[in-house]
Amino acid sequence: MKNCEVKGCNQLGQRHHIVFRSQGGLDFKLNYKYLCPAHHTGNESPHKKKEIDLRYKREMQMELLSLFFEDTYSLPQIIELIGEDKKNLEKKFRKVLNTAGLYKREDIVRALMGGRTY
Ligand SMILES: [Zn+2]
Ligand SMILES: [Zn+2]
Repeated sequence: MKNCEVKGCNQLGQRHHIVFRSQGGLDFKLNYKYLCPAHHTGNESPHKKKEIDLRYKREMQMELLSLFFEDTYSLPQIIELIGEDKKNLEKKFRKVLNTAGLYKREDIVRALMGGRTY
């Protein structure tokens, strides 16, 4: 169990998918944010406020862009960097444009953000 990640909040957190599973989000650490019930689904939460949802997505996107700082990566490298959900990553990247098995950084980040950028 983890505490809520909202600054100054020390309640026990629930696991939130920053890119919702319904938006194509996968199960990996960078897509998780631990939030207490109020910060997860209350009035000041990503499920109720578009700005909060967008802020968390943009923060995640920035983290992905700093993780994938080279121009291209192979699928095994992507899987190693993400570290989880190998099966679903393989499935997702089957549909992503690549040249001889190399994926462009922007295409990787877009795929991991659920097929769009924020
Ligand atoms: Zn959630
Ligand atoms: Zn909280």
